[in-house]
Amino acid sequence: MKVPFVDLHAQYVSIKSEIDAAIADTIARTAFIGGEPVSAFEKDFASWLGVSHCIACANGTDSIEILLKAVGIGVGDEVIVPAHSWISTSEAVGTVGAMPVFADTLKNTFTIDPADVRKRITNRTKAIIPVHLFGLPAEMDVIMDIAKEFNLKVIEDCAQSHGAKFKGQLTGTFGHAASFSFYPGKNLGAYGDAGAMVTNDAVIADAARMIANHGQKGKHNHIAEGRNSRLDGLQAAILSVKLKHLDKWNSLRIEKANVYTKLLKNSRLVLPQTPKDHVHVFHLYVVQLPESVDRKQVMEDLKQNGIETAVHYPVALPFLKPYSNRNFSNADFPVARTHTQCILSLPIFAEITVEQQRYVADTLQKLVS
Ligand SMILES: *Cc1c(COP(=O)(O)O)cnc(C)c1O
Repeated sequence: MKVPFVDLHAQYVSIKSEIDAAIADTIARTAFIGGEPVSAFEKDFASWLGVSHCIACANGTDSIEILLKAVGIGVGDEVIVPAHSWISTSEAVGTVGAMPVFADTLKNTFTIDPADVRKRITNRTKAIIPVHLFGLPAEMDVIMDIAKEFNLKVIEDCAQSHGAKFKGQLTGTFGHAASFSFYPGKNLGAYGDAGAMVTNDAVIADAARMIANHGQKGKHNHIAEGRNSRLDGLQAAILSVKLKHLDKWNSLRIEKANVYTKLLKNSRLVLPQTPKDHVHVFHLYVVQLPESVDRKQVMEDLKQNGIETAVHYPVALPFLKPYSNRNFSNADFPVARTHTQCILSLPIFAEITVEQQRYVADTLQKLVS
């Protein structure tokens, strides 16, 4: 049996006629950059989230960077980010000239530790970027309280959390603004790079839209040096089609995650948890291997058995080369450091079958028993 890590082809086949029609229509209208398909998607996505503004852009990394600029963050400022994430989260902070300050993550949920955030605040701190890692919301109530107390901006990184909820509220609606990625493998994915910024703040929205389109406020009215980070019409048209299926796909992901949890509950693995008040949309199903197990070997053995797995991520952000001059030690981020050494992401997507999941669970359990 073969179990791919994700199966984007199976998803395409399930909505082929809708997608093909949307692509043909966009080409017929030569709506290649911006235009009606992009404004339609911005409207659809804002309304799905229940926010007043959505500004589409080229990818999820740009959207973090542009939002940081839009809220006025730059040289001399510090921004607190989790030690465990994809590099975009800290990279965007560096790109605008500010300094990423890492906070450790929580043992049971992998998301940023609010108590550690509090400890890392200085008089240069201007913002926090919580990441709803793997599809599980960060502790947004405490994070917003801290932000209020210290007058900090909160930009949510929702690249992995389309549809996730905390206390009944969608991620992306807590902070001053939020960033979404529609990289093909995300819960809502385009057929290429794509991203979006959302906010209820008209001032942030105007600034973000201006920056993403060469600093223009209306055609040829350049009020600043901005950049080119626009969305293709084709990607927008595809995203509008796929958005209609997102809630159903998320329910299926949750269902498949519950299947793994049932199959693996008596194993030596630590399984992902969904604390009360959280809706986890399982962008990734991440288990922790016992300390004695050689992860590389397990992955290789799974591969020999036709099962693709991945590690998100093998090195915590503070220990990546770009931050080596900061001389962090393991003791600075004990939780993120430990997680990154033992985590393993299992195949999960809406179309995975119970037979495939049973095969993954059986094979993995034999390898770690
Ligand atoms: C995917 C991702 C991003 C942004 O990704 P792009 O590839 O630039 O769209 C940002 N943060 C996290 C946590 C991600 O997983």
